[in-house]
Amino acid sequence: MKRFEGKTILVTGAGNGIGAACVRRLFDEGASIAAADVCKNHLDRIVSEFGGSDRLYGVGVDVSNRDQVVEFVSSAADRFGPLHGLVNCAGIRGVGNVLDFDPEVWHRVISVNLDGTFNACQAFARNVTQSKTPAAIVNISSVAGIRGVPNRLGYVASKFGVSGITQTMAQELASYGIRVNAIAPGMIRTPMTAGMFEDPENEKRIRAAHPIGREGTPEEIASAIAFLLSADASFITGVVLPVDGGSTAGIPSH
Ligand code: NAP
Repeated sequence: MKRFEGKTILVTGAGNGIGAACVRRLFDEGASIAAADVCKNHLDRIVSEFGGSDRLYGVGVDVSNRDQVVEFVSSAADRFGPLHGLVNCAGIRGVGNVLDFDPEVWHRVISVNLDGTFNACQAFARNVTQSKTPAAIVNISSVAGIRGVPNRLGYVASKFGVSGITQTMAQELASYGIRVNAIAPGMIRTPMTAGMFEDPENEKRIRAAHPIGREGTPEEIASAIAFLLSADASFITGVVLPVDGGSTAGIPSH
């Protein structure tokens, strides 16, 4: 028996990187998947990998747009029936420090990473509390949602927000049978971070920052997401789980 047979799971940011790895993993484990991404081309590419399976469909959704998110959640329920899981992978970077951070970039990063996570969690939780289905949400925070990171001010704000709302929603939704957890990835090689590996010196620095000695893969994050969604994690809620090669485990020795 596959872990997610008969389960419906929604994935945002599904067109690339961690979200796409998540779709592949959950599909292999039997889930029916409603996949959303702001970039319909990326999404169509992922969906086409599965040869038109009726267990997967993709919708163009900007998670910062509440109406689109509400419509996405209700379309998934119309198509597949009761919903069991939500994975919030949609996200963007925002570079800059307190002295130079562009307020427009700040608002965009917060509106996608934090408002987008809230929008999807709220629409999903409202649906699931009505249908009274036990369910699980996995948000994607970051090591930048656990520790400060210079020159990533807006991103850090959004990810601390994601960590905080995850712990709060876990308490608010536990009595409805909904678990809420987050993953805090270290550096994962995806289209979002590809540019950071172009300079070999920077690549060395990235690897040195992870005691395991390398960056992570999207598949390693998808594996942790699948665990938190599954019944294997039935007593786990309110956790922000670092999946980071040990990068937040301590300070480097000199
Ligand atoms: P990615 O490769 O860029 O994939 C993210 C996907 O989300 C892209 O397809 C992107 O579309 C989509 N997206 C962006 N804005 C959206 C919106 N408003 N509505 C819906 N979809 C949207 O990034 P990733 O590395 O897989 O990151 C996934 C999540 O993990 C993000 O929340 C990120 O902050 C977090 N994370 C990543 C790392 C890492 O090292 N990669 C580390 C810690 C946390 P476009 O390509 O068109 O923008």
